Amino acid sequence: CGIFAYLNYHVPRSRREILEILLKGLQRLEYRGYDSAGVGIDGGNNKDWESNAKSIHLIKQRGKVKVLDEEINKQQDIDLDVEFDVHLGIAHTRWATHGVPSPVNSHPQRSDKHNEFIVIHNGIITNYKDLRKFLESKGYEFESETDTETIAKLVKYMYDNRENNDISFATLVEQVTQQLEGAFALVFKSIHFPGEAVGTRRGSPMLIGVKSDHKLSTDHIPVLYRSSGKDKKSCTTLPRMDQDTCLFPVDEKAVEYYFASDASAVIEHTNRVIFLEDDDIAAVTEGRLSIHRIKRTAGDHPARAIQTLQ
Ligand code: GLU
Repeated sequence: CGIFAYLNYHVPRSRREILEILLKGLQRLEYRGYDSAGVGIDGGNNKDWESNAKSIHLIKQRGKVKVLDEEINKQQDIDLDVEFDVHLGIAHTRWATHGVPSPVNSHPQRSDKHNEFIVIHNGIITNYKDLRKFLESKGYEFESETDTETIAKLVKYMYDNRENNDISFATLVEQVTQQLEGAFALVFKSIHFPGEAVGTRRGSPMLIGVKSDHKLSTDHIPVLYRSSGKDKKSCTTLPRMDQDTCLFPVDEKAVEYYFASDASAVIEHTNRVIFLEDDDIAAVTEGRLSIHRIKRTAGDHPARAIQTLQ
């Protein structure tokens, strides 16, 4: 029901600070109503952020964000003082549509017991039964009653069956969304793509807040339209609409991103936001945001404007 994700790129933050940002984000979304809450963060306790990102730690609870906060403080195996130069944490408040409110049905939902891929979801997947049947026939074992778990398993299926070893996280998510029917806003995190976030939406709201001390390079995020499933190279100058995407911001070294269902969760951090449109795939890789879509349809805007909230 409420989505909040936070990515710091070369802005050092302790795990404690990261969790505070995530929980505060969820609290700002509390008015939307919910029955459970959860977070997914990097699991390691080392100095090196990349090795920390090789595992994912999930904490999920039925009830209020406060209950989740208490649960976080009880965790034995995570060191709250570890500092991350780069980190992605995803957080969710759930309003159950499929499956009772319980820790296992809370989000993030996961691909497998190693938490290779995790996802938070706002909305309903109407064809989840067919997807679940397909994935079960391929040997995937489900643990929850949610429609969302099919998304977590499907992205792992796409990854395990990829034809190109260098496939990007955004392309995997694109392949997943092509199979989904219904309404969704999603944010994905994976141990295979440390420090990378991919968000997408269709029918459910999502925006991205950007915070940087530097002047932002452009007022628009160009959107890449792809004619094939193949990844295209990024460029370093502003593209025309018919060219490849440019990444944003182009030059900055330190930047923070906030993915949220609602601007009220972001405004205390930054007033620079981009509202995603249906079928946008937004990916942060090496601190840079790109937005693209598979197909161009009539009435599309050439770029996503960065808006300044008042
Ligand atoms: N349909 C999903 C579930 O029941 C997500 C519900 C929501 O938007 O919170 O788990």
